[in-house]
Amino acid sequence: MRTLITNGTIVNADATTTGDVLVDGEQVALIGTDLGASVSADTTIDASGKWVIPGAIDVHTHMELPFGGTFAKDTFETGTRAAAFGGTTTIIDFAVQPRGKSLRQGLDAWHAKADGKATVDYGFHMIISDVRDDVLAEMDTLVDEGVPTFKLFTAYPGVFFSDDGAIFRAMQQTARNGGLIMMHAENGLAIDVVAGQTFAAGNTDPYYHGVSRSPVLEGEATNRVIRLAQAAGAPVYIVHLSARHALDEVRRARDEGLPAYAETCPQYLFLTLDDLGNGFEGAKYVCSPPLRPADHAPELWKGLVHDDLQVVSTDHCPFDFHGQKEMGRGDFRKVPNGLPGVENRVDLMHDGGVVGGQLTPNRWVELISTAPARLFGLPRKGAVAVGGDADLVVYDPNRRHTISAATHHMDVDYSCYEGREVQGGADVVLSRGKVIVEGEAWLGAAGDGRFLKRERSAYLR
Ligand SMILES: [Zn+2]
Repeated sequence: MRTLITNGTIVNADATTTGDVLVDGEQVALIGTDLGASVSADTTIDASGKWVIPGAIDVHTHMELPFGGTFAKDTFETGTRAAAFGGTTTIIDFAVQPRGKSLRQGLDAWHAKADGKATVDYGFHMIISDVRDDVLAEMDTLVDEGVPTFKLFTAYPGVFFSDDGAIFRAMQQTARNGGLIMMHAENGLAIDVVAGQTFAAGNTDPYYHGVSRSPVLEGEATNRVIRLAQAAGAPVYIVHLSARHALDEVRRARDEGLPAYAETCPQYLFLTLDDLGNGFEGAKYVCSPPLRPADHAPELWKGLVHDDLQVVSTDHCPFDFHGQKEMGRGDFRKVPNGLPGVENRVDLMHDGGVVGGQLTPNRWVELISTAPARLFGLPRKGAVAVGGDADLVVYDPNRRHTISAATHHMDVDYSCYEGREVQGGADVVLSRGKVIVEGEAWLGAAGDGRFLKRERSAYLR
């Protein structure tokens, strides 16, 4: 099966060219001009006036994550289909080590959720719930098996929380085995004190989830884990950075030459603490770290421009408002934490970043696809390149559409961006050479996505 994509503007992180892309089987076989004159193809896609970009990569999703007595609603099938409609052709999800059990048991459980269901390629990070000698040894095995990234938390005491000693030991292990520690950096112990006091004072609405989690406590934890990593001689990656206090710490570390990396998410760029107001409706916006006051987002945009933030992911973790978010009525601490977003990232970043004049098209591609591929060990993804996987998006940078729960493909009953008009949208999406999205038509299939054995980070070599 050969597909020829003609006359597109090919936007990579490092260059923009005009021409044709020939896909042969699962790979990009040839890039050039007027290829139609010299090669034959089974199908031709006219990309005149459109961009051809590498399929986007979302390195932070939580399909079917158990949280607070319920499960994130999207399965690997519904979640990856929604991702594809939004131009994302690879996700990396977080497998969870059950406390007291092995990493292997957690990994097996996530393979069972994804195998035969995922519609696009996927990899796993491993959440380490308790650091033990046998778990440290298992980390080496996982790195060799293509799961070279591990997430630990300074937040959620009693659930995912690890103390500094445990985090330090895990970092020492990755300093030896070439893995990468990803950190949820908020001071969860102090946050729980404030949240308890806030609730006891009669403040029960979702808004108080936001005010209980001070950005200062994100900055503190970010600095702490960066310094732990420095002492351990290991790199560190901060997930879902939301606060300028935390960005200041990452920037300082990078200015010192430390291998410190960080991602942010669209919710921290486009939404604010005010969205948590409006009574219990604010539950739709409960996530951790929380949405911040409006003065943080402009700093995060600067971080994206200056490469103090290298990646934009979603932290996609959808819970229905009805029946799930409602579990926290009367106590903001019981609202399941997480927002839907896997479908919206590419368009939001195009609209706010490129159309908004803050990012070049190349930098946009770098943030949503190329840097994630390089940082997370996917050398065949993240670029429109001969020999690479034909994960490609024909992107219309001019099409305007309105985000709404009525039309999105995520299996969740609301949208955080309801009614927001954005410019830019995926017209045709290919996953390893197969067209899986064509306008509103779904041509993909459950089980077509493959598990990706990832390499060690290319940024750390
Ligand atoms: Zn997350």
